[in-house]
Amino acid sequence: MSRVARATIRLDALRHNLSVARTQMPAANVMAVLKADAYGHGLLPVAHELAGLTDGYAVSCLEEALPLRTAGLKHRIILLEGFFDAAEIPVFSARRLDAVIHQPWQIQALAEADIATPIDCWLKVDTGMGRLGFLPEDAGPALEQLLALESVGSVRWMTHLAQADEPDHAGTAAQMQRFGEVADESRSSTLPNSAATLRGLEPFADWIRPGIMLYGASPLIDAESHPPLQPVMRLEAALISVKWLPAGHGVGYGSRFVCPESMPVGVVSIGYGDGYPRHAPDGTPVQIAGRSCPLIGKVSMDMIAVDLRNAPTASVGDAVVLWGEAPLATTVAAACETISYELFCRLTPRVERVYRRGDDDGQG
Ligand SMILES: *Cc1c(COP(=O)(O)O)cnc(C)c1O
Repeated sequence: MSRVARATIRLDALRHNLSVARTQMPAANVMAVLKADAYGHGLLPVAHELAGLTDGYAVSCLEEALPLRTAGLKHRIILLEGFFDAAEIPVFSARRLDAVIHQPWQIQALAEADIATPIDCWLKVDTGMGRLGFLPEDAGPALEQLLALESVGSVRWMTHLAQADEPDHAGTAAQMQRFGEVADESRSSTLPNSAATLRGLEPFADWIRPGIMLYGASPLIDAESHPPLQPVMRLEAALISVKWLPAGHGVGYGSRFVCPESMPVGVVSIGYGDGYPRHAPDGTPVQIAGRSCPLIGKVSMDMIAVDLRNAPTASVGDAVVLWGEAPLATTVAAACETISYELFCRLTPRVERVYRRGDDDGQG
């Protein structure tokens, strides 16, 4: 048997999670956020699976948008940072891509552009995120300028929340109020990411931008407050070694873990070379034969070690789940002081991607 380091992607779960977004915000259009290779789940398989369910896609650059067009997808595609250079404008026009407009130079570049098809724009307002967008006082004039340009088609409002993952955060209320003051309701707009969608925050936004929730991980601290999502990815590897080590024996580089007693130690075929987080501490859970077992010792490039005292019958070849239904990616991320987003995005090409549908769970 060859080395196992496999991400199984459950397409049904993807569909389920999109339906949760629809249920949360029934009146809104959905732009499924597919940046960073669909959060490591595979741009084209995810895009195709959601094609009949979503109204549009959001990506971060032409390199992510053009494959969708080449694949024949005709949806609205929004580039979340717009064009990075005026030279990209003709491509936006020719391939019917929507641009987020967040800097004055972009308006100037559109004014100078010589394009046949006007570009639909999303005017981004920085209501408190402190990242991209015009400050509220500059948004009105920016809108007037855009509307005057022949190279511009429709213009919609956009903003992004900084604290929607936290319940009832005062910053969220303040951002929504500022957005309400700037964005006139006569114009289409978008505010909610996954967190705001799951909270049902709906300040007249008629487009939602769910990302992480589509992949089945909750961004909320209070994840029990919303309908359950289904994890899409199961990251699996296999036990390649099982042996007893005596009390006092070190495990891995630097002997970070020292066996407190004679105990069974397993070695698993995955490491930071696959994108498993190198800073995972002792105790980070993995699942073997339905039992939760703690990681022990430093993560190596190709391997991790696990304490098998919870799974005494485990043997070489057994499947090991790094994240999926159990443990959840959010649980692993919390143990590693990061977020599920980063775990998903950091998977390397060495991890095999397998796509499954229906009850076929990909075991074996
Ligand atoms: C990535 C991104 C999203 C999606 O965020 P999630 O938390 O994954 O739902 C929405 N809007 C913008 C501007 C983004 O960059």
